[in-house]
Amino acid sequence: SAVLDLAAIRADFPLLSERVGGTPLVYLDSAATSQKPQAVIDAEVEFLTRTNAGVHRGAHALAAEATELFEDARATVAAFVGAPPEQLVWTNGATAGLNLVAYSLGNATAGRGAPGSARFALRPGDELVVTESEHHANLIPWQELAGRTGAVLRHIPVHDDGTIDLDAAASVISNRSRVVAFPHVSNVLGIVNPVAELVALAQAVGALTVLDACQSAPHLPLDLPALGVDLAVFSGHKMLGPYGIGGLYGRADVLDDLPPFLTGGSMITTVSLDEAEYLPPPQRFEAGTQPVSQAIGLAAAVRYLDAVGMPAVHAHERALEARMGDGLRQIPGIRLLGDAEGVERVGLWAFDVDGVHAHDVSQFLDDRGVAVRVGHHCAQPLHRRFGLTASVRASAALYNTPDEVDQLLDAVAGVRGFFGAGA
Ligand code: PMP
Repeated sequence: SAVLDLAAIRADFPLLSERVGGTPLVYLDSAATSQKPQAVIDAEVEFLTRTNAGVHRGAHALAAEATELFEDARATVAAFVGAPPEQLVWTNGATAGLNLVAYSLGNATAGRGAPGSARFALRPGDELVVTESEHHANLIPWQELAGRTGAVLRHIPVHDDGTIDLDAAASVISNRSRVVAFPHVSNVLGIVNPVAELVALAQAVGALTVLDACQSAPHLPLDLPALGVDLAVFSGHKMLGPYGIGGLYGRADVLDDLPPFLTGGSMITTVSLDEAEYLPPPQRFEAGTQPVSQAIGLAAAVRYLDAVGMPAVHAHERALEARMGDGLRQIPGIRLLGDAEGVERVGLWAFDVDGVHAHDVSQFLDDRGVAVRVGHHCAQPLHRRFGLTASVRASAALYNTPDEVDQLLDAVAGVRGFFGAGA
């Protein structure tokens, strides 16, 4: 690679040198979950081996050390997305973060939990806005919230090339809109969405913006406060980190006024048998024992990404994306989803092969050592929009090589001949 020392990077990821079914692994499924560098595995093992103790409780030495590591991890991960530590809430992942927000808004509607929450209360006829390109994690929580409150769920369509229809957005987003939720990058289309434009439309009508940053956080320099969104979520396991950990970023005044979702230990100041007072953010949203070793693992992951440098990561993945897109366009019978011109992208392509079922394509690729994702990728409405029930998705990360992209392309070129669907 022109920008990264790929041999050194690949040596840091033990799984990449495994053989699967006798062939070297070509892992092109990082949008589902990324591989983990040894530094992340070591950070978790080291913590569990030497420091493990309950955080924010107990005065003994290990508890104090564990608390310090846990809060250092928060500061490290918050800084990675441009935020101060108190504006980063630990969650179990993006799905958990989005549900936290949706349930919190439901509690605001019920008048529970935070003195300033009335500004978030939803009334029947208020509107929640999403896009047609959501992962189900940023769709179903809003369907449920609409069902609980009488709010109406509306959506912004995408154009045939996968870009968001900003003219439609300008009419869908109105004085009735209370929430505008959208992906920074769709996990199917790979296009970096126009955050500034959508935030401007939402701010003009006083709607809360919620950004799904799952597919951008591992791939681009991210400054959530600069993007101007009110709330944003990401998942650790997609950005070289452990499972069961993720982040919810919020603007300070928004977090201050949001009621808690989960309640219980660790999120209170004083409790009587009849009522409780809650801590300020982020602790207000962190009821119960937290995923401490996972948070420490995620801090090691973002330190790894920072050491490589996110601008270099993005440039490398963009080159892989271009090679993949150019190669796929030249193979007869391939239809790329979201093949828009002049847009910023991350390193993934979902595609349909004319005359061959996506599951057969992925099986054929797997037989040649190329691991890709197949199905609707938790985005059924978007697939329906393109007249499909499933697609094949190849997604790259910083550790993938141009040679691996070529192996994907060679394998895809053989698919239609093998299945008798034309040359
Ligand atoms: N949003 C997007 C865009 C995603 O790609 C994913 C994971 N596929 C999610 C949300 C959900 O993330 P998680 O399963 O880690 O909660």
